[in-house]
Amino acid sequence: MQTNAYAAQNAITPLAPFSFERRDLGNDDVQIEILYCGVCHSDLHTVRGDWGPATYPCVPGHEIVGRVLKVGKDVNKFKEGDTVGVGCMVDSCRTCANCKDNLEQFCEKGVTFTYNSPDKHTGGTTYGGYSENIVVDKEFVLKIPENLDLAATAPLLCAGITTYSPLRYHNVTEGQKVGVVGLGGLGHMGVKLAKALGAHVVVFTTSPSKVEDALRLGADEVVNSKNADEMQKHLNSFHFILDTVSAKHDINAYLLMLRRDGNLTQVGVPPEPLLLSVGSLIFGRRSLSGSLIGGIKETQEMLDFCGKHNVTADIELIPIQNINEAYDRLVKSDVKYRFVIDMASLKQTA
Ligand code: NAP
Ligand code: ZN
Ligand code: ZN
Repeated sequence: MQTNAYAAQNAITPLAPFSFERRDLGNDDVQIEILYCGVCHSDLHTVRGDWGPATYPCVPGHEIVGRVLKVGKDVNKFKEGDTVGVGCMVDSCRTCANCKDNLEQFCEKGVTFTYNSPDKHTGGTTYGGYSENIVVDKEFVLKIPENLDLAATAPLLCAGITTYSPLRYHNVTEGQKVGVVGLGGLGHMGVKLAKALGAHVVVFTTSPSKVEDALRLGADEVVNSKNADEMQKHLNSFHFILDTVSAKHDINAYLLMLRRDGNLTQVGVPPEPLLLSVGSLIFGRRSLSGSLIGGIKETQEMLDFCGKHNVTADIELIPIQNINEAYDRLVKSDVKYRFVIDMASLKQTA
C-alpha cells in the first residue's frame, strides 16, 4: 500500500514529504491507521546522525497510537476499529533467552526497531510512525486503555515505558526519595510515574522556566541544577535517580547525591561519552546502570497502570509540517513536555 510520510534524506536537510510502499498484510499482521505519533529525542539523534550514520531515507516515529484498519487471518487479539499502540519495536527472534524472558529489546539476534532497522519483510529498512499507516506483527501491538486521551497517550509508548521499566526494576516504592534529571519528554513521565508509585520526587532542571510546571506535574521539590547551593543540600540522600538528559553533562554530581547503595540509572543517551569519577561510586557502594525501553509484556503492564492511575503526557500537538521547528526546539530544551504529531495534518501535504 502506498503510504504518505515525512522522511529525512540525510543528516542535515529538513524532514520533508516522502511516499513509500508498506508491506501487504500477512496472516499475523495488524494494519493500523496512525492517528498520533510522539516526537522522541531519539528520532532527532537518529536522523541527525548523533549516534552514527542512519540509513536514509529515514521515517522516524516510535510513539504510535492509531486505529486498526484490518487484521490478518490468524489475528484474534485485535479487530477492525480497535485503538492500539506501537512502540519502539516491531519484531524480534522470540526464541532466544532474552525474548523468552519478555525482554525483546535485548534480543540476542537483534531486535527490529520500528524505524531504521533491517526489515526482513521488505529487505529494506523499517519506516516508523511519521506516516499514514503501519503494518505490524500482532505480538508487537499494544492495547490502549479506553479512558485515556489518545494524543496524550502516544508518548507512553516510548517515554512512558523507558521511565516505568527502571523505576520498577529498581523497586521504587512509597516513601523513597527519587530524583529525575532533565524535564523533557522522558523526565516529565518519570515524575508522573514515580509519583504514582508513591515516591518523594525531586526534579533537577537547567530551565528556570520549568520550575512551576515541575511542581504541577507532581514533583515534591525542584532543584536548579546550575545552582551549587541548591545542589549541595541533596548530597547522600537519594534511593534512586533517573537521568534522562540528552546531552553531555556531569553525572558525578548526581552520583554523589545517592545514599548508601543507591542507584543512578542512565536512560538519556548523549552522543558523547560521559566522564565517570570512580570515587563517586566506591564511597557508599553506589551503582550506575542503564536501561533500554522495556519488553512488550511490561509495556502493556505500563499502559494498564497508566489507565488505572489516569497518567498521560503533557503534550503540544503539532501538524507534521512543523516537525523541523519542533526538532530545533528539542535541541534547546524548549519542550513542554512532548511534541505529538496530529497525523491528520499529513493529508494537507499529499
Ligand atoms: P527531551 O524531551 O529533549 O528532554 C531532554 C531534557 O534534558 C531537556 O528537556 C533538558 O531538561 C535536559 N537537557 C538537555 N540538554 C541538556 C544539557 N546540555 N545539560 C543538562 N540538561 C540538559 O528528550 P527525551 O525525548 O526525553 O529523551 C531524552 C534522552 O533519552 C535522549 O538522549 C533520548 O535519545 C534518550 N532515550 C533513551 C531511551 C532508552 O530506552 N534508554 C528511550 C527514549 C529516549 P531541562 O530543561 O529540565 O534541563
Ligand atoms: Zn523514544
Ligand atoms: Zn530474541
